[in-house]
Parts: sequence; C-alpha cells; structure tokens
Amino acid sequence: MMSKVIDGKRISKEIKDELKEKVSKLAVKPKLVVISVGDNAASSVYVNQKEKCAKYIGLDYSHMHYDSINDDDLIKVIEKLNNDSKVNGIIVQLPLPKGMNEERIVNSIQKEKDVDGLTYFNAGLLLNNEKCLVSCTPKGIMELLKRENISIEGANVVVIGRSILVGKPMMNLLINANATVTMCHSKTKDLAKITKKADILIVAVGKKHLITRDMVKRGSVVIDVGINRVDGKLYGDVNYDDVYDKVRKITPVPGGVGPMTVVMLMTNVLLAYENQKK
Ligand code: NAP
Repeated sequence: MMSKVIDGKRISKEIKDELKEKVSKLAVKPKLVVISVGDNAASSVYVNQKEKCAKYIGLDYSHMHYDSINDDDLIKVIEKLNNDSKVNGIIVQLPLPKGMNEERIVNSIQKEKDVDGLTYFNAGLLLNNEKCLVSCTPKGIMELLKRENISIEGANVVVIGRSILVGKPMMNLLINANATVTMCHSKTKDLAKITKKADILIVAVGKKHLITRDMVKRGSVVIDVGINRVDGKLYGDVNYDDVYDKVRKITPVPGGVGPMTVVMLMTNVLLAYENQKK
C-alpha cells in the first residue's frame, strides 16, 4: 500500500539528483545570486539551505550580503546583475529590513532572471496561463501532487491564505490545471463549512493547528504549508495527529512542502538558464 504521508524530503531528494545529473552535463554551470540585507535569523537559515542545495546540484552560487544598503543602491546592484550574462537567476531574500520598498526592489529584477517568480511580469504571465517563472512554494506543491498522482482536474480545491508568495500563485496554478478553486482568508466566514468540501485542502496561514479533524473531508488530500516555531519546535497549520486517519494523504511539517520550496528554486534557475540560451 502506498504511504499516506507525502514525503517531501524524499521527493525533493529525487528532484535534486535529477538536477545534479543535468547540471553535470553542462560545460558552463548555471549561476544563482542570492542577495540579503540586514540581520534576520529565519532568513539566514533559508539562505544557508539554498546555498547547500545549489552546491549539491553543482550550480555556480554567490551570496551578496549587505548589513545595510539603501533602495537605490540595491537596485543598482540588481541592474548590474541583470546585465551580467554569466548570471542566470537573481533572488532578493525577503523580508527586507523595515522601510525598504520590497515591491520596487523585486520588480527591478529582470523577468528572465526572476527565479522566485515574484515580479509583476511573471505574476501576470501566470494569471494568463503563459509559460513563466513561478513562485517556488506553490510550484513545489504542484510537483508533489503530480508525483503522488493526485488528480487536479475537476477537483474541489480550497486554498487558505492569499499571500503573493504562496496563496495567490497557488490559486492560479490550480485554476490553470482545471481545478475548481475556493480561496479563503482571515475574513472568510464559517471556514470549516468550506474546508469540509475540499478534495484537496492547501493551508498557508501561519497559525499552529488551525485545521482540526472536524474541518477536513474524509478521504481528502491535505497540504500543510505553515511553518510555526513554538518553543524551538516546528508545527504546521494542520493538527496532523488529529486529522491523520481521516485523510487520504497529508504532508508533514517539517519534511513536506518545505524541502520542495528550496529545490524548486534550483529548478527555476535551470529553466531560466535554458530560456536565456535560446
Ligand atoms: P502571510 O503573507 O502572512 O499570509 C497569511 C494568510 O493567511 C493571509 O492571507 C491571511 O488572511 C490568512 N489568514 C490569517 N489568519 C487566518 C485565519 N484565522 N483563517 C483563515 N485565513 C487566515 O503568509 P505566507 O507568506 O503566505 O505564509 C503562510 C505560512 O506558510 C507561514 O507559516 C509561512 O512560514 C509558511 N511558508 C512556508 C513555506 C514553505 O516552504 N514551507 C514557504 C512560504 C511560507 P488576510 O489576507 O485576510 O490577512
């Protein structure tokens, strides 16, 4: 019998090895540049994960860190990278320190090098169901569903959370894949009534154990994006133990969506590299 647990760690390792194999055959290695500003403990954990993954795959990786920099100077740095043909992907690690204009800065990344898929240009392409660079977490979730043979077409999918980073691109990917999508957020009334109808429930809120047994449909698929650190331990947005025997498939936290996000960034770097060669 197939496992009920969607093992993001194992699947991400498979993809990492596929990418490593591809990169090993390239004479010139694709290059990713990660820019970070200020001092954010969570961000430095994420940057380290990206570095580790990029190096494992064999990408050319560079991390540019600034203790502090103003918006205009940062945009000049990005423009220089935009014009450097050796650089294939650029990301700015978010959040930036308070007072910086994230929108303006992120949108200064050339769309072909926007491997986080966060520029308005790539978001607009996704909205129009055109080929583009897609935000890594929702892209990773689509890949998990695909590799677990979970069919999306015609499914009733409920997404909780409407962020630009996760919820909204998730909604668009699902619509493009012919799901019927309901988008919920903090102003949604009677959340349980909606979630109970979900064949696939995707939760990206950031509230420990928001989703309990009474809120899920029997035999459904539950994707938990939430990362909530409480007393040094990580929890999802879904009460995993509570819902476990009621659902058909579920992602654990940690080890579900998280590892996929990092590896999808690398997938995007390779995609950007291939597109730039054309
Ligand atoms: P965000 O920007 O804070 O968005 C949270 C969303 O949840 C908002 O749309 C908010 O509604 C909604 N919300 C808040 N309380 C709610 C409630 N009680 N009921 C229903 N909806 C509610 O967060 P995000 O960046 O999307 O991240 C969400 C979570 O995923 C966080 O825990 C984050 O750490 C995690 N995350 C994980 C990964 C990964 O790789 N695993 C990647 C990114 C994020 P409003 O719009 O009405 O405020």
